Amino acid sequence: MSRVKIVGGGLTGILAAFQAHAMGAVDIELHERFDNLGGVALPDVRNGLEMREGCIYFGPGTDPIRALLETHGLEFQDFDNRFGSLSPGDVYIEDFGGPGFACADIALTAPVGPSLADRLDCYPAAMRDPLVRYAHWHLGCDLSTVHESAATPLAINRSYPVGADLETLAEAKRTNPLANELLAIPRHLWGHTNNLQASLPVGGFPTLLRGCRRALEAIGVTIHERDLVSPRQALAEHAGEVLVWAANPTPLFKAAGVPVPRLLPKSFATYTFEARWTGALPFYVQNFTAEGSCFRVYVYESGGKTLLTAECVAEDGGDELSWDIHRLLKGFEGDLTLGDLLAASIKPRWIYHTVDAIERLTQLRATLAERVGPAFVAGAWEPYAKGEKFVEMDAALSAALGVSKAKAAA
Ligand SMILES: Cc1cc2nc3c(=O)[nH]c(=O)nc-3n(C[C@H](O)[C@H](O)[C@H](O)COP(=O)(O)OP(=O)(O)OC[C@H]3O[C@@H](n4cnc5c(N)ncnc54)[C@H](O)[C@@H]3O)c2cc1C
Repeated sequence: MSRVKIVGGGLTGILAAFQAHAMGAVDIELHERFDNLGGVALPDVRNGLEMREGCIYFGPGTDPIRALLETHGLEFQDFDNRFGSLSPGDVYIEDFGGPGFACADIALTAPVGPSLADRLDCYPAAMRDPLVRYAHWHLGCDLSTVHESAATPLAINRSYPVGADLETLAEAKRTNPLANELLAIPRHLWGHTNNLQASLPVGGFPTLLRGCRRALEAIGVTIHERDLVSPRQALAEHAGEVLVWAANPTPLFKAAGVPVPRLLPKSFATYTFEARWTGALPFYVQNFTAEGSCFRVYVYESGGKTLLTAECVAEDGGDELSWDIHRLLKGFEGDLTLGDLLAASIKPRWIYHTVDAIERLTQLRATLAERVGPAFVAGAWEPYAKGEKFVEMDAALSAALGVSKAKAAA
């Protein structure tokens, strides 16, 4: 069987290595440009505390990504998945991570194009206008240039029309795919019980990633750290191997002769505080009011302490941020005392894509399929809906290795 060369030692590259091994590959190399595996899943650690830059977690026992890691001895701890949201008009909704807008009307129109602006235009004005305000506040750019898939990382893929008749709304969701895709009913009103449980790695993310490294070595994967792979060279030397590109795809465009797309130039600020919180833990709240600077607050435990991460659309670190954080949490059960600021960072995030980037990615995939054939595997480039992307990568990897579906599943 061919050698499998995986570029990028983030979670996607690690999962690709475990999957290639499960499919029977024995000669597997994992190349990472930095000196630790983990990519964005590896938080900065200060005094034994994890400075997480967002609320990342795994699903319950049925999550295939978690299940794969468990087969290699990695351990997870279940927790009750608790969250909430704040929408305009001081509307706090418990156990609902999307926006709710005062609107009784649920008539939708079909989207006329692929942009986020087109998607938001499907809603009645009472929902569309605050959604546009929120998306603009969050991203700070022309929404007609943003791809509609950004609705998922913006947490506005489904909105709740507060005031709509619940039975009519439920019926619309059951019978009309567009209504089901765009409209939501908070879980306590709907009786749906998915997403109730989630999990975190026992000992935290650095422990998980160190465990992954040990498990990969135990199954014979060769790990090359501090090894920045050139896409030009990787594409020129791929003969006889399966190449999995589980890293930033931007350098591949030039190497493949496809125009480099326009990306969203926005950076986000993240602040981590020590905190005391008497409510559910972990817990997060999304802010859809387009006011203040903080779009999400995440309270979690690390190293025996309670930490709070505030993700912001702009730099803010002073009293206004503290006020914002208290405002977001005040609609939920629990008392907050905010302690010292432990860490601050300002970074771009690669989870919101332009229409141009999504079109060019399709072109890039087609060009590479033509030039390299099934031996080229794209690894979860659009980093949202990780579960679905993992399934796609898995299918591409089994095709590249010539493994039948039945054998891959065994
Ligand atoms: C159009 C587009 C542009 C993007 N641009 C960027 C970007 O500029 N920066 C970015 O971080 N993400 C970018 N991303 C996101 C990136 O695609 C994903 O992070 C990645 O595909 C894999 O997912 P992951 O969750 O494992 O990522 P990560 O956790 O980010 O893991 C990727 C890992 O690959 C390593 N790596 C990156 N390049 C190389 C290389 N040449 N050789 C060896 N190791 C490498 C990184 O250090 C990191 O550990 C972009 C995505 C799209 C769709």
